[in-house]
Amino acid sequence: LLMAYDPARRLAKLQVQMERAVVNARMIYELLDLQPLQREHPDAKDLVVTKAEIELRNVVFGYNAKEPILKGVNITAEGGKTTALVGPSGAGKSTIISLIPRFYDPADGTILIDGQDIAKVTKSSLRRHLAYVSQQPYLFEGTIRDNIRYGRPEATDQDVEEAAKLAYAHDFILAQPMGYDTPVGENGVTLSGGQRQRLSIARALVRNAPILLLDEATSALDNESEAAVQKALESAMNGRTVVVVAHRLSTIVKADKIVVMADGRVAEEGSHEELARRRDGLYARLNNLQSPN
Ligand code: ADP
Ligand code: MG
Repeated sequence: LLMAYDPARRLAKLQVQMERAVVNARMIYELLDLQPLQREHPDAKDLVVTKAEIELRNVVFGYNAKEPILKGVNITAEGGKTTALVGPSGAGKSTIISLIPRFYDPADGTILIDGQDIAKVTKSSLRRHLAYVSQQPYLFEGTIRDNIRYGRPEATDQDVEEAAKLAYAHDFILAQPMGYDTPVGENGVTLSGGQRQRLSIARALVRNAPILLLDEATSALDNESEAAVQKALESAMNGRTVVVVAHRLSTIVKADKIVVMADGRVAEEGSHEELARRRDGLYARLNNLQSPN
């Protein structure tokens, strides 16, 4: 090894790669610390997390002025609990997730974490307390180890391996030609969809953040991968405040609270049992459309 590991340098290098590459911005959201974000408030204080409770108060947002996407959303995600966002495609679920790390700011309303307005805390302290797993796992040129370590550049090799174990990725990583040092990305080994997802979960886990934002993938995996990803997600969710855009019935049913979104508003909320009982409710209708597998 000629060069010592230098996180700042690696991040700078990745930034150059990203500027050159034309990639879908949503895919790289996972690399939270590299995202451009909204301006820091001049008197910003560090976020202090106690319960890790998230509250959206009357949040209004549109990607452009003409087309409102969120039309006054109120959601409380209790500390240490899982809140699932469900609803038809285009309802604004992923948009809600993207407001919490401040990829965008609301046009009106407030988002609070433990009572502190996230628009008034330092961006580094906000991001430090968040981990994000996007719908499409993003792997870049580099080794498996590098890809996990981007979750927290100062993580040790041991931290990386612990995260991989929790994400049920350690065994398939060891089975690769060079284990953790196996290159992935365009010039590296090809990983299955389920393996890529588990790497992206490991990347989130290595951050060891109290809040996990999860945009569940819609693409179907084979049964074996599905089970492994499910277990990885369960360990990632354990003990954290989770806000999940949920597509899998298993995730939805296990959530402490389900928030049903429709047309930029909260249509209903409650537990699976409560919502399923309302025969004419939106959730009951959506739920009937899903095959119980
Ligand atoms: P959901 O996750 O519930 O399917 P989204 O939050 O992804 O919904 O999208 C809500 C609406 O916002 C959709 O009409 C979508 O086309 C639009 N939208 C999403 N992302 C962007 C973007 N980056 N720029 C412009 N419009 C967007
Ligand atoms: Mg979405």
